[in-house]
Amino acid sequence: MCMPCPSIDQFLDAVKQTALANKRFIPPHGKGSLYIRPLLIGSGPILGLAPAPEYTFLVYACPVGNYFKEGTSSLNLYVEEDLHRASRGGAGGVKSITNYAPVLRAIKSAKDKGFSDVLYVDSINKKYIEEVSSCNIFLVKGNILSTPTTSGTILEGVTRKSIMEIAHDLGYQVEERLIEVEELNNVDEVFCTGTAVGIASVGSITYKGKRIEYKEKLTSKKLCSRLIEIQRGIIEDKRDWIVEI
Ligand SMILES: *Cc1c(COP(=O)(O)O)cnc(C)c1O
Repeated sequence: MCMPCPSIDQFLDAVKQTALANKRFIPPHGKGSLYIRPLLIGSGPILGLAPAPEYTFLVYACPVGNYFKEGTSSLNLYVEEDLHRASRGGAGGVKSITNYAPVLRAIKSAKDKGFSDVLYVDSINKKYIEEVSSCNIFLVKGNILSTPTTSGTILEGVTRKSIMEIAHDLGYQVEERLIEVEELNNVDEVFCTGTAVGIASVGSITYKGKRIEYKEKLTSKKLCSRLIEIQRGIIEDKRDWIVEI
């Protein structure tokens, strides 16, 4: 997007200052969290198709509860085959507003049918699963955890990365690979990951009119507890994920 980025120091300082300034809004443990969203916006007096002449970096914060109205119960996903959130060579791997414009209609149509969100497939073969509108997806079968490989059409979420590392610590075999939609018929458990979403278990996925149900939640619960224990300092943070302010 040709945007100049703030330095790591500027970025961390802004996030820390925002969190401190909003300390009184941080919900108690278990009740929610202070969601922090850094944003970089281009602006200026131009009409032409070119990078903006000026940029604003801002950080805002808001106390939040659960991202999905389902709360801690499971999500019901709908596999969308006609609308795609990202295409090869596009900006699907970047946390940019361009990735949300194409999903609004797909989400609305899925919600109107009673689903929680949409699971997208690749735009070329319409055969491999990619991710959900604002979170990554994982499948569990026995001791193996699989998630789609990121090759530009999937956002490489930090929660995805953390969960892969935690799963590895807990003795799971972790695979990043192409995953066909049909495989959804043959797994024990499915869950989604994201900063806003947290770790959300999936109760069903509907593909070509057929609903596949998942009863299992054990792995997502285990991984979620581990992540929260690290965040709260209950178990050792071996990887320096915690920033004290
Ligand atoms: C934000 C987002 C995610 C999750 O990323 P995190 O870094 O874990 O918050 C996954 N997919 C999409 C499309 C997203 O916008």
